[in-house]
Amino acid sequence: MSKIIITGGTVLTVNDADDVHFGGHVVLDGDRIAAVGDGTYQGPVGDGDQLIDAAGMIVMPGLIDLHYHTAIAKGFSDHLPLWEYLDACWYPFIRTLDAEAAYWSAAASYLESIKCGVTTVNDMYRRLPDLGRAAHDIGIRAVLSNDVALPEHNLDTLQDNKDAYDAVHGLGHGRIEVYVGIEWLPLASPGLLRDARALADELGTGIHIHLNESLTEVENSKERFGQRPTEVAYDAGLLGADCIAAHCVWLSDTEIALMRETGTQISHNPGSNAKLGNGIARLPEMLAAGLNVGLGHDAAECNNSRDAFQTMKFASLMHRASRVDASLMQAPEVVRMATRNGSAALKHDTGELAAGKKADVILVDTRNPMFTPLMPGDKAHIYSHLVFAANGSAVDTTIVDGQILMAGRQLRTMDEQQVLAEANAGFLRTLEKIRA
Ligand SMILES: [Zn+2]
Repeated sequence: MSKIIITGGTVLTVNDADDVHFGGHVVLDGDRIAAVGDGTYQGPVGDGDQLIDAAGMIVMPGLIDLHYHTAIAKGFSDHLPLWEYLDACWYPFIRTLDAEAAYWSAAASYLESIKCGVTTVNDMYRRLPDLGRAAHDIGIRAVLSNDVALPEHNLDTLQDNKDAYDAVHGLGHGRIEVYVGIEWLPLASPGLLRDARALADELGTGIHIHLNESLTEVENSKERFGQRPTEVAYDAGLLGADCIAAHCVWLSDTEIALMRETGTQISHNPGSNAKLGNGIARLPEMLAAGLNVGLGHDAAECNNSRDAFQTMKFASLMHRASRVDASLMQAPEVVRMATRNGSAALKHDTGELAAGKKADVILVDTRNPMFTPLMPGDKAHIYSHLVFAANGSAVDTTIVDGQILMAGRQLRTMDEQQVLAEANAGFLRTLEKIRA
């Protein structure tokens, strides 16, 4: 199989030792990383091998967006709090969405992610077979889950989720997976959570749920069930190391302990939490308790950007501001959350550059004002710029499973302008149906 040889760049491995190889190399062989090391590549170059000159580039693991929704209608009802927003905009759109709109909205969402260096999305949405096709065609790594709720809410059922699992789980040589998704507790019941856990165990797959996102959710749970959301999920047996709990803004000390006891994975989504006025998660306490926390943007409807670099910056600044403490959430820790922690949450073989890992790699161009000045050979300076100075437009190349999805900021797998035009058309068609 032909190789991709990336040489002469600053290789940020994000491995246990946090090794950085200045002027180093990374060799990709098929869908795996074959070698990572110091110095420019000196080995053999075969006829079909591709050589990438990474001079002036940071070569690093692709970013993992741990809480994600395909988006069809960003920029609407931006002034509303979460619950009102869901009823006014989100649910009407996802209840009305047709197959074509789902496919192109997913493709446009994944396109924006690929353009800012995201190689894996953990996407909870509807019409998963169409999303699976989009992920397959554009080449991103995707974990998909349904928006399962009680039947009266007219969203997805566990049977829909099982059907989606049967239809697309394992597609693209395992690049596309299907988890069981629960929308959130206000539209669910302890019985539904128990059934979701049983289905996930039967399928041998994971779970994706929103938990403790807003104060209104916590109050609703206390009223209906006499317990806080994470306590309900714990008692229903839903939590576990295979469960991604998104947001977790309003966790009590007891709930943090339940997350810890069950090894539940947390997606911290600071941009969405701020924009929807949901608050600031207790990230320092969650990390101190030893929880594995990755980062997510949530959805373009409630963020409104899918730029994972923005998410990294928010994940530091919000906690520094609210705690009046500049020592919190330093850049290397934030980069690890966006790479290794997200990968660990999904049990993926990605998130660091090491021989044997999956070939999910990005190249970030430093030859621009965002990375100027740049001290030669200084690791701390690179981390600082990645988190505090850069945005996704610095990403030059995105590679997933050894396939180059974007190079020189040009998407290679689909026609970018067609994706955008079709996503616009799908949005307008869906809006028309809602208003009819
Ligand atoms: Zn969400």
